[in-house]
Amino acid sequence: MDMKQVMKDYFLDLDQASKDPARKVAWCTSVGPAEILRAMGFEVFFPENHGAMLGATRVCMDTIPKANAFGYSPDICSYLTSDVGAYLKGITPLTKAYGIETTPRPDVLVYNTNQCKDVMHWFEYFAREFDVPVFGIHPPTHLPEVEASHVDDVVAQFEELIELLEKIQGKALDPEALREACALSKEATDLWAEVLETATARPSPLTFFDGTIYMGPIVVLRGTEIARDYYRSLLAELREKVAAHEAAVPGETKRIYWDGMPVWGRLRAMSELFKSNNACVVASTYCNSWIFSDFDPEAPLPSMARAYLKIFINRNDRYKEDYIRKLVDEYAIDGVVFHDAKTCPNNSNSQYNLPARLRDSGIPAVIINGDLCDLRCFSDEQSATVIEAFVETL
Ligand code: SF4
Repeated sequence: MDMKQVMKDYFLDLDQASKDPARKVAWCTSVGPAEILRAMGFEVFFPENHGAMLGATRVCMDTIPKANAFGYSPDICSYLTSDVGAYLKGITPLTKAYGIETTPRPDVLVYNTNQCKDVMHWFEYFAREFDVPVFGIHPPTHLPEVEASHVDDVVAQFEELIELLEKIQGKALDPEALREACALSKEATDLWAEVLETATARPSPLTFFDGTIYMGPIVVLRGTEIARDYYRSLLAELREKVAAHEAAVPGETKRIYWDGMPVWGRLRAMSELFKSNNACVVASTYCNSWIFSDFDPEAPLPSMARAYLKIFINRNDRYKEDYIRKLVDEYAIDGVVFHDAKTCPNNSNSQYNLPARLRDSGIPAVIINGDLCDLRCFSDEQSATVIEAFVETL
């Protein structure tokens, strides 16, 4: 299946839905309860995905200052400022890519602070702007372990959300539809995990930079057959590459772990930089964040609660350290690159001594400064110098 076509169809359908009074659109955070929204018959739009598009196309460099002037600090999430600024300017990269004029108008917005609180401010802005309901799930955060009481807390919030969605849709949730959405998400996420695992092969058939593109459907199409079918075909393709020893980085000699957000506006440049140093970024915290092994269609709400609580970003530092160490072993990693993203401390893990702890135990680690979208915080020369020197020492 062609990735570009999958994403194009998704956005065109969403655009149609937002113009059709019989269909309703929900906005959802990237690790929010998309399965509930789909089961309730909503088309689902993910503003973070739009933020990533704004970053990758570098359109954000025109829109971030607009949001800053409007009162959103340059220090907060640059997905938020990219997206709010784009709305204020009345532009979107969807126009150039698919001929779509605007992002779809929401009927409801649903966020989950399992990742950060910026999403709350972001979604509340648009709820005011469109005068529609907004619902926040506020789970326990930064957990060492996910306990039954945490799951119960989130299930109760899901139940409250369902009541609101039932009022908006004028119909009750069909438990079978929820079971089905959860089953499809489970299949897609398991396949996504297998896709990423193909990078344990040496040479690896894919890089982190490929993964940031391949991950589109697991973010925006969870709970659909399309996402499942896409990852089935991608997995088959990558397994063929493994069998044929086809390398994503020809002459791969070093294997790198990437922690933190991508630098969306420099994906190609960063990919080329590692490639020219015979280094393959084979694993990342970021791409792995959409592996939700706990989904269970026989217990949709508790299993979704557990899966969305257990995500890396919502765990304590000890968990994160152990997780990275485990992946360093599994993927035979030579060194870890931490991206300290200026506007996302939530998903930057280099600020509390973690790289030093890894180094102390013999795992080389380095930090680059940058940002997910705001290229004013990123220096091509500086990051290239740091990465080249790091790879050389491995
Ligand atoms: S986790 Fe970071 S990038 Fe994602 S929405 Fe929150 S602040 Fe923005």
